[in-house]
Amino acid sequence: MTNRIKSAQNALLSWYKKSGRHDLPWRNTQDIYHVYLSEIMLQQTQVNRVLEEYYPQFLKRFPTLQTLAFASLDDVLASWSGLGYYSRARNLHKTAQLNPKGLPDELSALLKLPGIGKYTASAICSFGYNQNVPVVDTNIARVLQRVFAIQKRDEKILWQKAESLLNTKASRAHNLALMDLGSLVCLPQNPKCEFCPLNEMCQGKVNPEFYAKTKKTRYEAMELFYGVFIEDDRIALVNAQGNMYKGMLELPNIDPIEEWHIGNFKHSYTKYRLNVHLYALDEAPFNAVWVDIRAFDDAPISSLTKKAKKFFYKIS
Ligand code: SF4
Repeated sequence: MTNRIKSAQNALLSWYKKSGRHDLPWRNTQDIYHVYLSEIMLQQTQVNRVLEEYYPQFLKRFPTLQTLAFASLDDVLASWSGLGYYSRARNLHKTAQLNPKGLPDELSALLKLPGIGKYTASAICSFGYNQNVPVVDTNIARVLQRVFAIQKRDEKILWQKAESLLNTKASRAHNLALMDLGSLVCLPQNPKCEFCPLNEMCQGKVNPEFYAKTKKTRYEAMELFYGVFIEDDRIALVNAQGNMYKGMLELPNIDPIEEWHIGNFKHSYTKYRLNVHLYALDEAPFNAVWVDIRAFDDAPISSLTKKAKKFFYKIS
């Protein structure tokens, strides 16, 4: 190992000691299930939302992998409601059922489990099992691209570079440090290079934006038409069609009839910007699944359907 890499590793660790996010609960646990859960929740969801709205609540309801394995999918999806990307919850549940006594500690075995890709498997090995493996998530990828002046993002090269930079004497802290550096210092726009512990070895600092161009999210507008039928404090829902909300309940999709129109509201879901139209139905759909309005929050219902219910009561 060159002296340049050694001194970069040391600088990174000192920076992490002073400025890293040490108070995140999943960083202060030996429980592999907790580490795994946090990694799944943090995919596509921001740290603060996970921390404040989901992680502690989910663990309270399913404190171990075993309780999760024996829970019904409906209960798991109900606890996931609002987090989006529900395939994560379905895979989490499947993985728990396959390994109720604990997750394997080998990268290759983890990679065979549903919903666990290279990043998640490495994160579990590094953060959970304290193994000497590199980790590359979006934040780390950006740091590496800039440090090694990699013009075009190439996964294979990034993992090789992560390995070459890995501090094998403190790999867990090293990986966490790189992750924090990406989210606190080496920002997509206007990175704070003057405070960066990797400044000396960074080859991309002269033009950092060039090395990790951010792709603009393309949003898709969509019109949705739902029918509402409520009787005796029960609402008629149906099993969701398609993969997006698979396993969950939603309002029935209908062909719009102008006279039945109640109103519309906006909702965002992943890359979709939805305009949701509600219509009053005069009878329940033939395949209705009846849900008591008072038990709405305990059912596997998406935040879109919860919002629709709220909207319906507000305007009717
Ligand atoms: S010097 Fe700047 S561009 Fe390079 S890793 Fe640090 S923050 Fe990122």
